Amino acid sequence: MGCTCPTYKKMIQIDASQGEGGGQILRTALALSIITQQAVQLKNIRAKRSKPGLLRQHLTCVKAAQAISNAKVIGDSLGSTELVFTPQAVRAGDYAFAIGTAGSCALVLQTILWPLLLADTASTVTIEGGTHVPMAPSFEFLEFCFLPVIQKMQVEAGLHLHKHGFYPGGGGKLSATINPWKTKLPLDLQERGERISQHGLCIIANLDQSIATTQLNEVQRYLNWDENDLIHQGLRNSHGVGNALVLTVQSAHHTEIVTSYGDKSRSSGLVAKQACDEMKNYLGSSAAVGEHIADQLLIPLALAGGVFTTNVISEHFTTNCDIIRAFLDVDFAIERVDAHCFRVEVMK
Ligand code: ATP
Repeated sequence: MGCTCPTYKKMIQIDASQGEGGGQILRTALALSIITQQAVQLKNIRAKRSKPGLLRQHLTCVKAAQAISNAKVIGDSLGSTELVFTPQAVRAGDYAFAIGTAGSCALVLQTILWPLLLADTASTVTIEGGTHVPMAPSFEFLEFCFLPVIQKMQVEAGLHLHKHGFYPGGGGKLSATINPWKTKLPLDLQERGERISQHGLCIIANLDQSIATTQLNEVQRYLNWDENDLIHQGLRNSHGVGNALVLTVQSAHHTEIVTSYGDKSRSSGLVAKQACDEMKNYLGSSAAVGEHIADQLLIPLALAGGVFTTNVISEHFTTNCDIIRAFLDVDFAIERVDAHCFRVEVMK
């Protein structure tokens, strides 16, 4: 469903079907529209997905971006494939957003985090929805992988998980405290350093606990991790059923986290294999950070400068570079270091 918006010539025009053609284009455009105070018009939103247009999670991102910037919005309805977003200055505050489905809380936070960090005073944000859902950062990824990296850039923020929420039941809740980002320190994360520790966490909510045994055995077998590094977390009070396998490797300069999620369509062993393969690829490279955090570091890098190495340059990554370039006068130099490592540096 389009919003039949007229074409506004002075606005930044984004064809959201470009590149990976998914929700990340929308989130990056909303964040940078507020930060740069430039109106944006998006067409063909999520055109490359089987259900195109704004789903609940994306609509909540739009509503959240609107709330923090008092924006004028056209096209903010479910299924809409076009949006016109005209922000005013960001306002710090205490905000609460409920997605209403198992849509990812992390991705709603991703939309408003950077604008709120650039506000004059502190904010708190509470988001209800999914905290452990496929194709999105798990809460553990946010708290122990993403947050420590942006803290190196002098970001002051904190995260709290109130309740787990899985797909499809949802019912999860997280909150964030966000302080003004006063000193923007460029990132320098080119080596992960020596390995300090590793662990595999299997979270099971209202499902047979034998799933944890199977998955953790697979982690032990594929990655050769010690039994003492394996943790089973059984949740009794979660809304609905769910399973997430979270693999963590802490190195001297970076903690990398890989998450895979159980679903009805595949065996527990396959869920474990997916996470182990991703972690093996990362560990087999000399890169500092993994695939997912790499695309999520591009906005802070564009704002503060810096350099990092990653083992994968995904289509999400290259598309995000293109969207950032539409708003900011920056470029990203991507240089292949070896077969499994790329160096990414922002050029301002
Ligand atoms: P859609 O693809 O349906 O439009 P979406 O709005 O959920 O979906 P994408 O455009 O696919 O979003 O972006 C997903 C974001 O979640 C990216 O930033 C990606 O790096 C991140 N992500 C996906 N899987 C993981 C994971 N396992 N761990 C951490 N981050 C993840």
